[in-house]
Amino acid sequence: MGYDYDSDNIFAKILRGEIPNDTVLETAHSLAFNDIGPQAPVHVLVLPKGAYVTWDHFAAEASAEEVMDFTRAIHAVIEKLGLDPASGGGGYRLIMNTGPDGGQEVAHLHAHILGGKDIGKMVS
Ligand code: 5GP
Repeated sequence: MGYDYDSDNIFAKILRGEIPNDTVLETAHSLAFNDIGPQAPVHVLVLPKGAYVTWDHFAAEASAEEVMDFTRAIHAVIEKLGLDPASGGGGYRLIMNTGPDGGQEVAHLHAHILGGKDIGKMVS
């Protein structure tokens, strides 16, 4: 067990520049781009640039600088796209699918930001 990172995953290839992406925002340690198969009018993926498989891997092993950068990069995308209710936006949903039961397809940590319309409730 443990956190085995496979550097052949599609997001690793995007981070290495081998596959193009529609960048929304880039910081020192994070990259945000539009999802190729959007599930809402806004569907952005935010990735740490480091080789982390899941949120747990990141939370356990990332540096404080990486954690802060990733957190602020997610917020910066939300602000850039006008989704923050505190700034007059309509809100959004933040998701990290994790592992097989969580429906994770790409084994490089990514947060989904979904919004741009009323996307309803998933958990009540
Ligand atoms: P997961 O199910 O792992 O949480 O989400 C993977 C997401 O990556 C999916 O929403 C899928 O549409 C997106 N995706 C897969 N391949 C690519 C790609 O090559 N480029 C982009 N921009 N998104 C991708």
